[in-house]
Amino acid sequence: MANYGIISLIWRHKMTNQVCIIGAGASGLLAAISAKNNGADVYILERNLKIGKKILATGNGRCNFTNVDANEYHYNHPAFVKQIFGQFGPDKTLDFFEKLGIVPKIEDEGKTYPLSEQASSIVDVLQYEINRLSIHVHFDEFVNKIEKKNGRYLIKTKSKTYEADKVIIATGGMTLPKSGSDGSGYALAKYLGHQITNVFPALVKLELDYPYLKHMDGVKIKAEAELISNNKILHTEYGDVLFTKFGISGPTILQISRKANELLYKKQEAFIKVKLIDHLDYKALFERFKMQHEKTIEMAMIGLIPKKLIHPILKESGLNHFNDQVHNLSGKTLNRIISLLFDWRFLITGSKGFDDAQVTAGGICIDHVDAMTLESKLQKGIYFTGEVLDIDALCGGYNLQWAWSSGYIAGKYAAITT
Ligand SMILES: Cc1cc2nc3c(=O)[nH]c(=O)nc-3n(C[C@H](O)[C@H](O)[C@H](O)COP(=O)(O)OP(=O)(O)OC[C@H]3O[C@@H](n4cnc5c(N)ncnc54)[C@H](O)[C@@H]3O)c2cc1C
Repeated sequence: MANYGIISLIWRHKMTNQVCIIGAGASGLLAAISAKNNGADVYILERNLKIGKKILATGNGRCNFTNVDANEYHYNHPAFVKQIFGQFGPDKTLDFFEKLGIVPKIEDEGKTYPLSEQASSIVDVLQYEINRLSIHVHFDEFVNKIEKKNGRYLIKTKSKTYEADKVIIATGGMTLPKSGSDGSGYALAKYLGHQITNVFPALVKLELDYPYLKHMDGVKIKAEAELISNNKILHTEYGDVLFTKFGISGPTILQISRKANELLYKKQEAFIKVKLIDHLDYKALFERFKMQHEKTIEMAMIGLIPKKLIHPILKESGLNHFNDQVHNLSGKTLNRIISLLFDWRFLITGSKGFDDAQVTAGGICIDHVDAMTLESKLQKGIYFTGEVLDIDALCGGYNLQWAWSSGYIAGKYAAITT
């Protein structure tokens, strides 16, 4: 009997996977909790002195932690994401966080926040759970190499070498590098034989080449914005558009920015088209100008568009004297003004970069990652989660949802497979 006890203890010990998670961000924390709940011996290596630094910056400090419509798969590799969401999707995520104490507050377009409207609530409950499960987080540990030796992994930081059966790389992308995610995970993956696709900032403000931007700085409008390339509309959004001295911003532009940067990366010309007038058609606008024919053109545009946009529109129409009366304008000039109000185009020259972006497009190529388990197809026992992978999505809680889902699934399989 006693022998059976010892044998089963040794057997259980042998069956317990020791899982090392690199990164205590959104996906790493979920991976740790999931691995521990599935029976693994878990620890985390984090370069910062705290967990979840980036989470605190999300949703303007409110943390748009999921989207109840996340099953719409607004991702660059929807089929891959679908396999993970099929196992742990938005519903299970809401459930997971509700059990930790987060009451969800659903706003427009399915965006979901904690009722407290504080991103720190999410970090606090995750910290509580990590403590409750006795998961050790080794802070101030920057991992610079992972090697395999005698069937186990050696995880090297500046001063120490850790060991584990399984390693989950949850190091994030390259956005907001001061939060700790500066792309170092790509080097770890590359060393293990993985390919990294082109990485560029997404969900980011765009820079424009337009001579009157200084004049337009600070103007915020609700408008339709379109991404145009080769005279084809590639993406349309409606909502807040903000002009700045360097270019254009606002939620609509962030959504468009991924595709825009992709085009720029491929050296293709891309434009943002803004439709300033929404409720009137061409004929109605023409009539409106005709009725105000005695006014100066500048005055006739008051009440139609924000004042700071009037001079740029008139200048672009070829006018230098804004006090010309409407009835003195040629039909061609009036036509040009009206056309610009419906179709104002700006050449995109770049974006604000990783410091300002919300997500990284590109990353570890998914071709060599198992879509069910997130285990590397090249290195057994290595898993990837979150933004370090070539997965990104639109704004609206989708990126964190990917981080939670992928973290949870990788943690589970790292714990249960031998
Ligand atoms: C300003 C901002 C606002 C955002 N708002 C939202 C939002 O409201 N909703 C949404 O869905 N998404 C939002 N996102 C995106 C979302 O935050 C990320 O997609 C998500 O946090 C990615 O999670 P992750 O676990 O992959 O990486 P991260 O959360 O970046 O975590 C990576 C962790 O790994 C650590 N690390 C990195 N390299 C190493 C190393 N070599 N050794 C040890 N540790 C390392 C880092 O310090 C960090 O703690 C926002 C992003 C930004 C920048």
